Amino acid sequence: MLDKQGANLNLKQAPPRAAARDELTTNHAARYVDRIAETAGRQSTYLDPDTSTSAHSWDAAIKAVGGLLNLVDEAVEGKVRNGFALVRPPGHHAEYDRAMGFCLFNNVALAARHAMSKHGMDRIAIVDWDLHHGNGTQHSFYDDPRALFISTHQYPYYPGTGATREVGSGKGEGYTVNVPLEAGAGDQDYVAIFQVLVAPILRAYKPQLILVSAGFDAHHTDPLGGMALTESGYDQMGRILMGLAAELCSGRLVFALEGGYSLEALRGSVAKLLGSLSSFDPDGEATPEAVSVEDMRPRARKSLAESLDAQRRYWPDLQML
Ligand SMILES: [Zn+2]
Repeated sequence: MLDKQGANLNLKQAPPRAAARDELTTNHAARYVDRIAETAGRQSTYLDPDTSTSAHSWDAAIKAVGGLLNLVDEAVEGKVRNGFALVRPPGHHAEYDRAMGFCLFNNVALAARHAMSKHGMDRIAIVDWDLHHGNGTQHSFYDDPRALFISTHQYPYYPGTGATREVGSGKGEGYTVNVPLEAGAGDQDYVAIFQVLVAPILRAYKPQLILVSAGFDAHHTDPLGGMALTESGYDQMGRILMGLAAELCSGRLVFALEGGYSLEALRGSVAKLLGSLSSFDPDGEATPEAVSVEDMRPRARKSLAESLDAQRRYWPDLQML
């Protein structure tokens, strides 16, 4: 896709690098990092029922992390306005000391840690629109207000976490926002959720950087998911975030690839989003028209109303549905 369309997209490549051990241990147990390192060169190691490594997984995983950290640096230093880390393996299921759901290291959580430690940030928003709940990311910052975690996901579904009532704890209470959705939600549902819930919370939080766990497994053709998003829906969500990033944090918006199991849907959705990212005009009419909650599927609307109710005590600007 990039070979065919990349020339039209005004892209700049951020070179990957291997993440250092002391970068990985900002979000993972040292003994766990060592355990993954030991898989290097071994044909196959099963870490959990879904997650196995090949001889090259360690190398790919540390370059995925390092590449994303490089991209964060470039975005924060203003060398690029925004960016997309096209990395594998994905990361959002990886826990502090456990591989899960094809994920070894939590790329996005590590990117947030890096923004905190290297760039002194203390308000990082993580928006996770992957089909699945980002349990590892949520747990990384569950009691930490320096990262705001917002997730839409199919529910009940793998990995089982992500109920509306999970809102964070201690100092992090109110900084975890879950929108669990029944199967079948589509473009207008997601766009309405972004306009009615995600945008007002981001405006109130005033992030210094927005990270996106960008999975494309909520696409209607995805073999693992039961959602109904199209390329256009992903693009609209992306453009809402671009508008918010321009308004709130000098455009700093960094996507990291998570799931997506229809290669065609993945390619098409990423291509459309890259087109919007590379041509984004903060002064133009880039953000999508407002979608009416009246047009939502009743079950998605009910889920949105429940999330609004759970979050209103922390974010008083949220409307009633
Ligand atoms: Zn997923």
